Amino acid sequence: MKATGMAAQNILDTDIMYLKGVGPQRALTLADELGVKTYADLLYYFPYRYLDRTRFYTINSINEDLGLIQVKGRITKTELVGEGRNQRFVAWFADETAALPLVWFKGIKWIKDRFKVGAEYVVFGKPTEFNHQLNFVHPEIEDMAKYQAKPEYALQPLYNTSEKMKTKMVTSKTIHQLQINLHEAIKNVAIPETLPRQLLEKLNLPNLKTALTDIHLPKNQHDLQRAQLRLKFEELFYIQLKLLRLKKIRARANGGHKFEVVGQNFNDFYNNHLPFSLTNAQKRVLREIRRDTNTGLQMNRLLQGDVGSGKTLVALMSMLLALDNGFQSCLMAPTEILAQQHYKSFCEMLAPMGIEVALLTGSTKQSTRTQLLADLASGQLKILIGTHALIEDRVVFNSLGLVVIDEQHRFGVAQRARLWSKNSIPPHVLVMTATPIPRTLAMTLYGDLDVSVIDELPPGRKPVKTIHYNDSRRLLMFGFLREQLKQGRQVYIVYPLISEPKASDLKYLEDGIESISRAFPPPDYAISVVHGQMPSAEKEKSMTYFAKGITNIMIATTVIEVGVNVPNASVMVIENAERFGLSQLHQLRGRVGRGADQSYCILMTGDRLTTEGRKRIQTMVETNDGFVIAEADLKLRGPGDIEGTQQSGIAIDLKIADLGKDNQILMLARNEASLILEADPNLKQPEHVILDSEIKRRWKYEFDWGQIS
Ligand code: ADP
Ligand code: MG
Repeated sequence: MKATGMAAQNILDTDIMYLKGVGPQRALTLADELGVKTYADLLYYFPYRYLDRTRFYTINSINEDLGLIQVKGRITKTELVGEGRNQRFVAWFADETAALPLVWFKGIKWIKDRFKVGAEYVVFGKPTEFNHQLNFVHPEIEDMAKYQAKPEYALQPLYNTSEKMKTKMVTSKTIHQLQINLHEAIKNVAIPETLPRQLLEKLNLPNLKTALTDIHLPKNQHDLQRAQLRLKFEELFYIQLKLLRLKKIRARANGGHKFEVVGQNFNDFYNNHLPFSLTNAQKRVLREIRRDTNTGLQMNRLLQGDVGSGKTLVALMSMLLALDNGFQSCLMAPTEILAQQHYKSFCEMLAPMGIEVALLTGSTKQSTRTQLLADLASGQLKILIGTHALIEDRVVFNSLGLVVIDEQHRFGVAQRARLWSKNSIPPHVLVMTATPIPRTLAMTLYGDLDVSVIDELPPGRKPVKTIHYNDSRRLLMFGFLREQLKQGRQVYIVYPLISEPKASDLKYLEDGIESISRAFPPPDYAISVVHGQMPSAEKEKSMTYFAKGITNIMIATTVIEVGVNVPNASVMVIENAERFGLSQLHQLRGRVGRGADQSYCILMTGDRLTTEGRKRIQTMVETNDGFVIAEADLKLRGPGDIEGTQQSGIAIDLKIADLGKDNQILMLARNEASLILEADPNLKQPEHVILDSEIKRRWKYEFDWGQIS
């Protein structure tokens, strides 16, 4: 057994150059463009889609959104159109339902004599629209007779390739052929299994070798689906196993402070000082936090809640819980302004109860700081609010029991770890974020944390009304602004760019200043401008004028996304809204709807939208729910682009699973991982040894397992 395993490893490590059909030149291209250097790399370079070669579309049923498809029919006419560099070869192609042109700009000489008018062909390509006419540009085309003669791969795998690869004649088809060659070469080689046999049997999954064959060269839909399930499951399963194991190890190794009582301050605040009643979501989260902090293990909890959902109050009450149990607590904010805001609201709420709160930021005066640090070290000061300054080495707590981090992703994982190392028993950690993260993503990024969600806004908020106008209705938008301004409201207008772009007709701020000043002239109207290239003093002044109501229109770029709070501003206009990501649109919209008035968000777009652009705008018009928006964003763009992913500093580089779609497989994977760890926390049982070694192999460089276990 062992010998075969070794042999397999050796063969899979073979340089790709030696595979039939590759050679030194192609090996370079594959390495540079795809990172494929060995047989194993190629084996794990999965198709992104499969073309069902038995399925044909009728020409009258196709559209631009379908991607690569097949049609069959006859060529009715061919012609050369245009002169010189603009010359193109056009073949009209028809089936019983309709006709469309096939177009070639290159290789005309070669292609123009290839076709027989009247003969039957299969055309394979991506329909695109040009001058309101669908066509195929540079399609693949094959004789019907020839096509029918080779039925071996009914499901043709499609592989991503780069532009550069195309110029080197390495296409999706080439890679398909290389996969055929590779499978021929390893036909008799045993590939060692990477999942326990019991698990494969329990879930009825194919073994690794079968899955790796069927993913590239599926004989039918059924085999393909089983292969996909197996490989997606495996990918997600190991991530979950790693995260859950980390969580267990950490809990066991570190222990945690036990908050045993819900004491006087908490109850006094709840009964006598709370300015409103808690929402059910706030109550639920507080219960979760109380339960966590009472177990004797360290709490690591992520609290997600949209802007305005009342996370600060949850933080404050958790900190009172720490206080009642004799512990200090601190709240960290990502910016000085936010820290000051928190400090102010904490003081307002806690001063009546005689509880002292202090603020520590980079600009805290030296004398204040010295006193503050002394009080902290002696344990006299119980509640501290601040910025990054809190994690400096000079800050020593007497008995830190709880750390609350507002807006997690700006802090990053490494900084979180620094906090823990400050005490022998680490404090409980509550991380709060207003960037809603879809559940699947949260589970993958923060699977070692417990997650709480505030999915309910305090009562009485008027949801922002969102309206979509295309450019041709610009005057209507101006009319609406005039009406709102007349009622004393203020307006934001956001542009995607500052200056005129070279190669597009996007709206830009400089032009906006001109046209808005013309439409809304002084003295009736006053305009503020803010953008990223202004000196910060000027920016500040501009913001202040708007905040004080001296100006009533704010022309800006997305710099106003964070930190601006002007309750009287009730209209947000976003120019070229189709150019913004969903989460960014959601953040921008969050700038209005902060006061008592009905607020509006107007999404201006060009007259023609891409399918994706249209879906984004539609999502924004339909919902104000940050989670729904985040889910939609994940489905449209994939996890790599989602805000919060990059900032988290955790790369999720999934080869086959799709967090937008594979929700159920993820749940299954997490569940199985959890069952295994419950039965065998150290993965010592013989059938689990493989799990332990796979985790170590997959995350060789990421963890120092010796240190945590
Ligand atoms: P975020 O979750 O964005 O941090 P905040 O904690 O700043 O939200 O709360 C937004 C506003 O809602 C604050 O003015 C806060 O006082 C108020 N608020 C919080 N909880 C409630 C509640 N249960 N009922 C009414 N208003 C609330
Ligand atoms: Mg907040």
